[in-house]
Amino acid sequence: MEIVHLSAECYPVAKAGGLGDVVGALPKYQCKAGHIAKVVMPMYRTPFLYNHEWSVDFKGHANLANWYFDFTVIKEKHNTLGYDLYLIDINGLLDRQKIYGYDDDTERFTAFQIAGLTWMKSWEHRPDVVHCHDYHTGLTPFIMRYAFDFQALSGIKTIFTIHNAQYQGWMTWDKSRYIPRWDLWKRGMLEWANNINPLASAVKCCDRVTTVSQSYLEELKFQSNGLEKLFEYERGKCVGILNGIDNEVWNPATDNYLQHHFSITSVTKGKEKNKELLCHRFGFDLQKPLIVFIGRLVGEKAAELLPDAIAGAIYQFGHTASYLILGSGEHQVEGRLTDMLMPFSGTYNAVIGYDEKLSHLMYAGADFLLMPSRVEPCGLNQMYAMRYGTVPMVRSTGGLKDTVVDMGETEGFGIRFDQATAGDIIYSIGRAIQVYRDKNFLLLMRERMMQIDHSWENTVQQYDQVYQS
Ligand code: ADP
Repeated sequence: MEIVHLSAECYPVAKAGGLGDVVGALPKYQCKAGHIAKVVMPMYRTPFLYNHEWSVDFKGHANLANWYFDFTVIKEKHNTLGYDLYLIDINGLLDRQKIYGYDDDTERFTAFQIAGLTWMKSWEHRPDVVHCHDYHTGLTPFIMRYAFDFQALSGIKTIFTIHNAQYQGWMTWDKSRYIPRWDLWKRGMLEWANNINPLASAVKCCDRVTTVSQSYLEELKFQSNGLEKLFEYERGKCVGILNGIDNEVWNPATDNYLQHHFSITSVTKGKEKNKELLCHRFGFDLQKPLIVFIGRLVGEKAAELLPDAIAGAIYQFGHTASYLILGSGEHQVEGRLTDMLMPFSGTYNAVIGYDEKLSHLMYAGADFLLMPSRVEPCGLNQMYAMRYGTVPMVRSTGGLKDTVVDMGETEGFGIRFDQATAGDIIYSIGRAIQVYRDKNFLLLMRERMMQIDHSWENTVQQYDQVYQS
């Protein structure tokens, strides 16, 4: 099959979270399984662009309402990532350093989709599947079906994968003029709650919807930022497929970002060497358990609970553990985490920002990884942590529920809690501190989790079945 992935993120080209990891890896493993998988994404000005060689594949033009724009499609020359990677450049819209967060994101991603489909229309053949990811590419199924100038693409099957249903890309109706001339009778296929809703439109118009875990699919019917009824109604076309992890990138034995490599047979020593680096850099005591958090500092991740939970744990258990945070997001949370640096120095530290290298060292060197998420469609952090022998401490929700077994259960290796509250987090920290003293059990848990196979090979087959269906 020929599969074209349309996405706003793709690691290592541009990544803000799990979406980037998935789109960076899934096509690679689809190609290994014998498919032709391609990724099409915006040409942001990230280091990857300047460090690789490109050839121009196509030059075209299109319209966004009455703005006529030129675009260029470039292709990475050497198949570095294991699949064909195409970047679309639109001057004035996509030539930015960041992926999101601009006032004209609606215009940026709508124009990206129009350009991508205009280019695809010029192909001499048709791919089997167009696979769209999250709301940034959510208008694509509608345009392919109902825009007059894109009828040539209407026979291609479309899959829409939801990595995060909180962000839906709402647009007011005056922006409907951005969408290329479409069949006005189909207004309902764009609309949700009196707005254009790209995520809802994709769910309505595509052939199959996938979510990144089975539990998340179930949760969407009860909690999906206003789309609950839609997911209930469309449940027949929805399938939950747990994300894989790229074992070539996330392998403690070969990880390019690590100075000290290790495997399951050398996990205790290997982790200790990485922990030493962290303790040295952040002023921690090597003997104490190191509990870390990596992620976006937003409500979904329950990040605003971290200051109270850490302060509460230090108050309750004294300076018996070390805490390290890596993340960025809401300014208020960033501020509170920064304010705690002085009073808790030696026990707590935080890096506000995005740091891929440090994140790898933290997965490798930490003893516990905390994820108190309110919503977690799949969650990759806990899977990376498990691969690196770091005990996940997670709230029982979405993909976290599907991947982590509490240490109190048979074959357990993690710590689970039910509520996204400071109280539940503090209680779990208490369990972590206690289990850290039992070195034999800690090793047993590490060995159990490191043997779990979350590789993409298995996941690719599940996507195959969806495509075939
Ligand atoms: P989400 O996509 O909701 O942010 P996921 O758990 O699916 O959450 O994926 C998060 C990915 O982003 C992981 O690879 C994690 O290591 C990475 N990540 C998140 N925040 C940071 C950060 N501040 N620095 C480095 N990596 C980060």
